[in-house]
Amino acid sequence: MHIVAITVAAVAFLASETSCLVKRSVNPDEYLSQFGYLPTLPPGSGQHSDAARKKAIRDFQHMARLPETGRLDRETIDKMAAPRCGMPDRNDTGPNPNAPQAFKTFNKWKKTKLTWKILNFSPDMPAADQRLAFTRAFNYWHQVTNLDFVEVSKDADADFKLSFGPGDHGCGYPFDGPGGVLAHCFYPESGQAHFDEHETWSEGTHDGTNLRIVATHELGHGLGLAHSDDPTALMAPWYQGYTSFEEYVLPRDDIMGIQSLYGENGKPIPTLPTKPTIPPTQPPTTGACHGAYDAIINTPDGMTYAFRGYNVFRMSARGLEAEADIRTMFFPEPRKVINAATYSPRMKKVYLFIGTQIFRYEYKASEQKFYIDEGYPTDYQSRSDYPRNPDAALVDAGGWTNIFEGSKVWFFDEMNRGSRKNMLSDIISYFPKAPSGKIDAAAFIDNTYYLFQGQYYYTATNRQPVVGPMKKDQRWMGC
Ligand SMILES: [Zn+2]
Ligand SMILES: [Zn+2]
Repeated sequence: MHIVAITVAAVAFLASETSCLVKRSVNPDEYLSQFGYLPTLPPGSGQHSDAARKKAIRDFQHMARLPETGRLDRETIDKMAAPRCGMPDRNDTGPNPNAPQAFKTFNKWKKTKLTWKILNFSPDMPAADQRLAFTRAFNYWHQVTNLDFVEVSKDADADFKLSFGPGDHGCGYPFDGPGGVLAHCFYPESGQAHFDEHETWSEGTHDGTNLRIVATHELGHGLGLAHSDDPTALMAPWYQGYTSFEEYVLPRDDIMGIQSLYGENGKPIPTLPTKPTIPPTQPPTTGACHGAYDAIINTPDGMTYAFRGYNVFRMSARGLEAEADIRTMFFPEPRKVINAATYSPRMKKVYLFIGTQIFRYEYKASEQKFYIDEGYPTDYQSRSDYPRNPDAALVDAGGWTNIFEGSKVWFFDEMNRGSRKNMLSDIISYFPKAPSGKIDAAAFIDNTYYLFQGQYYYTATNRQPVVGPMKKDQRWMGC
């Protein structure tokens, strides 16, 4: 009675972005065994106990950031049908199952100069584009380590061997047709990376499955990384959709993961606060933890500033670094509590939103202080096309300032290039599965949206459904 095949219709890659619906049938027990949540039972040895299944479902829901009900509800089944990597999520035999970071490592290569070759090409894309996608995939890892990758000819010996194949392609782990498992790559020192030929591989478009991003994930396994618990990590098990080459940055969790194996190369790391890996230098005061934020910004020196009342919390990747009164950081200081704030990487300016007023500051990273620009604050009181009481704000990849107010999000062009999109949208239609109620604070960091509400935060990428809730204090403040 436990073997229930459930047919899930309407599971598309990037459901909102393609019209191609892939109908997949998921057997939950098989799925949970395949990905390491349930041990595989020898044939004829009965079935897993209800308690074991319930725990496996809970573990899966935890990984997928779903409510941990232990029940096979609709969301859980849908997640099981979503496109993903074929490698297991749990490796309890791995060397550090209790690593404090989200990333998990398995083992590593004993050398740093590695060769690769392509055994065959997919008919989906020009061969040159596939070679470029693989070259770029290796390069994402090269950029943050001392690893060097060299392509060699088809006849030469190579450490990494990349190939496409449908269904049973000879390694003992058959693919499953369109959707579902997209690819897999074995841990060091195997170097075998296999891509499911039943997927439609692509580059430069939201249609199909992006070869560069999937290959980068698979090479992560090939270099020794296991699946990460961090839903924003590239090494999270699920395909997260297309991001252009120009916009894609390797997430922080993956950089920390690969550097834990191979060291770093001394280049600056893209900024993203992550779970603290060492305790903060000063213990956080009780005031820092357990409260909602009014606003949050991230600055180009890797700092994140959160505002609550007249307090400013400065956080780095290690957690809370300092807590200060706003008057010691902002000159002159705003005289009212901040409703919303954002840093614009394009303008290199910090904006504070207070009612209909906007304050623009220059950030001096050397001093970690903010100085107001001439002509500010400005007041939009007389404009009917401006929110009265902003809750949160961010500047997205396109340079659009998103201002959240109640259940709506407004879009303004900070460069005044004229309007491109509707000025106003429901938060829920722009960020599918966003929490209801007002957003307290928001930020856009490394192509990921972060939405804060009370004690929790949520993430979203590429118009994919919002992921969360996740507890904010430990990750952001180290409390
Ligand atoms: Zn994977
Ligand atoms: Zn294979």
